[in-house]
Amino acid sequence: MPRDRKEGGSLIYGPVPSRRLGRSLGVDIVPYKTCTFDCIYCQIGRTPQTTTIRRPYIETEPIVSEVAARLNKGETPDYITVGGSGEPCLNSEIGIIIKKIKQFTDIPVAVLTNGSLLWSHEVQTSLQEADVVLPSLDAFDAESFRKINRPHPDISFEVMVRGIADFRSVYSGQIWLEIFIIRGVNDTDDAMAAFGPHIAAINPDRIHVNTAVRPPAEKYAGQVSPEVLNRLAEKLGPRAEVIAEFKGQSRQHNEEDMGREIVEMLSRRPCTVEDIAAGLGLPRDSVDRQVAGLARSGTIQTRRSKDRLYYFRPAENNTGDK
Ligand code: SF4
Repeated sequence: MPRDRKEGGSLIYGPVPSRRLGRSLGVDIVPYKTCTFDCIYCQIGRTPQTTTIRRPYIETEPIVSEVAARLNKGETPDYITVGGSGEPCLNSEIGIIIKKIKQFTDIPVAVLTNGSLLWSHEVQTSLQEADVVLPSLDAFDAESFRKINRPHPDISFEVMVRGIADFRSVYSGQIWLEIFIIRGVNDTDDAMAAFGPHIAAINPDRIHVNTAVRPPAEKYAGQVSPEVLNRLAEKLGPRAEVIAEFKGQSRQHNEEDMGREIVEMLSRRPCTVEDIAAGLGLPRDSVDRQVAGLARSGTIQTRRSKDRLYYFRPAENNTGDK
């Protein structure tokens, strides 16, 4: 059964600043937090129970209509990004959702996936109309896979990597592979060398090297320095790049919309004031004012990580599916 949205909830959020996709209009197609993994670095918290069950977790029509409504209101994101609060390929309707969105817009559609289900013929077929698929590959062997991604017991490292490579052979769009570097886990030259054969098999168009810039699910999933990240990216070859911080543009906005959009954004992930201003295209002082009011009323809370102050919306305050 598809899960109904609750009153006041929204499955569409942003546009948010994406270091890979510019201004990205997020489309959340699984309830918080429906995932095949429980990654130690996950920025939206732990997965209470991993799953591999594919089903229509959320109704298709309201999602598609809301994307259309946002675009009709004048939003012009760089990408419409299917992803959100878990693994979107667990939604068995993902192909229909992408197809319907493509029927009313030329804005490219991207899919953020952890790659664990790309071996499935059904999933491979569903993603054919996406313009960009962005799978993750954080582990270089079975042991690091268990350590970093803490997958559902039915998912093996070998099947997952072979699945991403198989998908490459049947998909003509862009594949941008993300490798998330965690201090003390996969941050050595040996680890980069071990990624080599897997990357060769997958043959991605780009490789994005990333590290924790937001509070991770486990405090020990620490970030590496920009210098280390650059050095490791070089080891991965010319297609690899470190993802740069996004800088956005300011735009006009009324106070009520501003508050609503900020709350929606923070329901999805913790952000700094700079992230919010860049993602929503708002002046910094307006965002300061809004978050101060929302924090005072208890709608949002703060958390400090690496000397940066993040705002987030506590789960108990969320009225809709995340
Ligand atoms: S980082 Fe992505 S794949 Fe990993 S647990 Fe979080 S939502 Fe799932």
